Amino acid sequence: MRRLGMLGKARRLIERVVMRGSVPAFARWGKSLPRRVIQRIQAEGFKEVVLYAARHQKFFARQLHERGINPSRVTRPEDLGDVFTTPEDLLSLPAEDFICREPQAVFETTGTTGRPKRTYFSYDELDYAARFEAAALYENGVRRGDRVICTFDAGYWISSWVAYLGCKHMGVFCSSVGKPHPREVYSRLHEYRYNIIMADPTWLVSLSEIAEKEGTAQVKLIIAAGDRMTDEYRKFIEEVWHAPVILGYGSTEMGGGLGLECSERDGYHIDEFNFWVEILNPDSDGFGELVVTTLTRRTMPLIRYRARDVTRFLEGACPCGATIARLAKIRGRRDEMVVMGAGNMYPDIFEKVFEGVEGISDRWQVAVRQEGRHDIVEFRMELSNGITPAAVEQAVRTNLQTRFPEVWANHTCGMYRLAFRCLPAGSLETGRKRRRLVDERSAA
Ligand SMILES: [Zn+2]
Repeated sequence: MRRLGMLGKARRLIERVVMRGSVPAFARWGKSLPRRVIQRIQAEGFKEVVLYAARHQKFFARQLHERGINPSRVTRPEDLGDVFTTPEDLLSLPAEDFICREPQAVFETTGTTGRPKRTYFSYDELDYAARFEAAALYENGVRRGDRVICTFDAGYWISSWVAYLGCKHMGVFCSSVGKPHPREVYSRLHEYRYNIIMADPTWLVSLSEIAEKEGTAQVKLIIAAGDRMTDEYRKFIEEVWHAPVILGYGSTEMGGGLGLECSERDGYHIDEFNFWVEILNPDSDGFGELVVTTLTRRTMPLIRYRARDVTRFLEGACPCGATIARLAKIRGRRDEMVVMGAGNMYPDIFEKVFEGVEGISDRWQVAVRQEGRHDIVEFRMELSNGITPAAVEQAVRTNLQTRFPEVWANHTCGMYRLAFRCLPAGSLETGRKRRRLVDERSAA
């Protein structure tokens, strides 16, 4: 208990179950908790972390002081008004402003700017996160006797470590080997009898392309995270391996995983025991920016961290029976969302529009430009296989019209025009996190 300081009743209960129970027992218990117990665990955790950070974190204490907020009166995130922690804060301020006690580990996230954001942890915290990861894996059918190959990028990233420790808690065989060339793993599939693959989507596509040509192995489950998985990628990978692909969502700042899909594959079940999730400024469909408070970390807690990803809560109970809340698949980065007269545009719209279009590589970009008084939505693509630009243009128009009738309706009534540009191969490859939707109107 010393790890977290003073705890409320509901939090003491969950600490006991998590730390003393087996993974299967904890997974079953956590899955069926009534909502009111989960809400109680969250409310207590939130109050505890706010009081703790007010005492130990310079950054948070300063924010409270400037606004005259008394931390003992804060019971919900809204009580903090405009107090947030942003990725920019983490980049621009010294780590000492956020670290509350002597750290034992550090991990990094590389963003679009190329500068890393750093998050510090204790060994206890990594171990604790891994227990929840283990429960989530158990819920998806991972069992003792299975063999996991995990190729999440290692280096300064956190996910491969949490996956490894999660397997350790279950006594499950795990090779967490960084991110080798897919062929290196392919050549060992039979030797080590891996039947569960954890990897990022594009790496999985490469591995699956090899397996499609040279033969697959007995794989029962594939878990993907760390990059975007389109429906098209998922379908291809599932067809090659005859195994379900389950998606996870998280980041180094979130300590690895924030949520994981269940077998229904409809939204991420959120780890509500360790995170309080808010959707900031939701639109009429409930989509807004994801904001996350870490409830159980004490080395470097993050209070109302703006993840810059756009998503929404999914309504209703999940058929799998789990009572924890679900988040929809991420629509895109908040800085990739483009506000137009025709409505908010997100990268996932265009991902679905390009899906199944023959002859384009997966390197594409959509730009919103301005010509005179008109918004132009410009599709930039690299063509392959000798396809004609006219054929691609027709396919894209048809997909936009049939898959997003409301977006198309705004086009037919003249709210924006469409443009198509075909580029030589390689021109759209601009680093690890290429922007798929850009707003160029300010520069016009
Ligand atoms: Zn579910």
